[in-house]
Amino acid sequence: MNTHNITHPEAASEFLRNKERVQWHDETLWFVRYKRDKVVNEIPEWEQLRELASQIKDHTLSRLDEYLQEFEAAAISNGVTVHWAADAAEHNRIVHGIMAKHGAQKIVKSKSMLTEECHLNEYLEAQGIEVVDTDLGERIVQLNKEMPSHIVLPAIHIKKEEVGEIFHQHLGTEKGASDPLYLALAAREHLRQKFLAADIAITGVNFAVAETGAIVVCTNEGNADLGAHLAKVHIACMGIEKLIPRTEHLSVFLRLLARNATGQNITAYSSHFRKPAAGSEMHIVIVDNGRTTQLGREAFRNSLKCIRCGACLNTCPVYRRSGGHSYHNATAGPIGAILAPNLDMRKNADLPFASTLCGSCTDVCPVKIDIHNQLYQWRQVLTKEGYVPAAKTASMKVMAGVLSSPARYTFAGKWARKLLRWFPSLAMNKKLNPWARQRDLPEPPKESFREWYKKNSREL
Ligand code: SF4
Repeated sequence: MNTHNITHPEAASEFLRNKERVQWHDETLWFVRYKRDKVVNEIPEWEQLRELASQIKDHTLSRLDEYLQEFEAAAISNGVTVHWAADAAEHNRIVHGIMAKHGAQKIVKSKSMLTEECHLNEYLEAQGIEVVDTDLGERIVQLNKEMPSHIVLPAIHIKKEEVGEIFHQHLGTEKGASDPLYLALAAREHLRQKFLAADIAITGVNFAVAETGAIVVCTNEGNADLGAHLAKVHIACMGIEKLIPRTEHLSVFLRLLARNATGQNITAYSSHFRKPAAGSEMHIVIVDNGRTTQLGREAFRNSLKCIRCGACLNTCPVYRRSGGHSYHNATAGPIGAILAPNLDMRKNADLPFASTLCGSCTDVCPVKIDIHNQLYQWRQVLTKEGYVPAAKTASMKVMAGVLSSPARYTFAGKWARKLLRWFPSLAMNKKLNPWARQRDLPEPPKESFREWYKKNSREL
């Protein structure tokens, strides 16, 4: 699905065409949110954990340069080769360079949103290299030639019957089969062959510990471990913001991550990688790709604290009812809408507006990112920089003028009530007013509340 050239509202209307899917998507993600709430409420010190995690990340970001150097030195002394990539293109070139050095043609990859952000699969496939995503959800979307629609649940938009059809076409499972166990076993057999044949394994990184140079990868399927242990070369790709200072800090984040993501106490695998096994190689590619720019934007700096739990997506009423692909970016939902404009303001100017600013995302964030405030602030930056459609900017200016003066507000209200009654099509023109496409106009009141109150206040 090519979502590069369409805006969030346009892509969302595509998703909204299938009402049954929208309902089910909404309910499924709300169920994940409910599971999260249940398990979170079992931890009396939850709020202290959030506060601690937020402070650790704030502190790390304030000394990121020092911790990056500490991490690099420790990793090198462990026998790991460390690479630095300024942007996505350099990241892809480095990974390809390692592959070329080993004459590698097949790689297995466990879930890594960074490699999605860098479009690594497309890059390597263009060089004739086979890339197999081994996380089950990622493999489903990869076979279906789609992007992940969620950072934790990449195939959440696809029903099991559809997975059955995808597997029938690509893996030769029985036509019409949709039993999850049958499909999971078929995927397991298929992926096992890929693991055994791979020259190189790529993993993401959930946490990188500065003091030891170790990385931690959290999965529920053990695919990161299997890939990294079977292949002779392990490449771990991480953004610069994945650092935490000390091993003891891990306990804070591991307690928060899975509980907040899916309502599990902990992920099935929290794998620690520190050095290459005898006869093997381990590489870590540390990527900036716009992160230092975000670090320099004071209002948006703390978005780099994100641990990618996905809870802000699950709770967001807009995400749940517009689907992840409507965000036309590797990272969807509220956090994606903050990160994406930093990478490309023009292309992603629509995303901070895909929010009701209800604040539910901020409430559930385990590292206390003020997500809805940042969405609001991005709107102001984008408007100032001229990336918002002129009609919207002009109408907002008119509204500001009306709402800032009681006299203008009263005058405008009087005429709006009259005009809406006489010419309802003015407001409900579906071409001029996108809001009208999904809504009916209520009967305009004959008088304002103030007028009504003046008449009736004595009787009240
Ligand atoms: S912004 Fe917060 S809630 Fe959203 S994915 Fe990141 S850590 Fe989770």
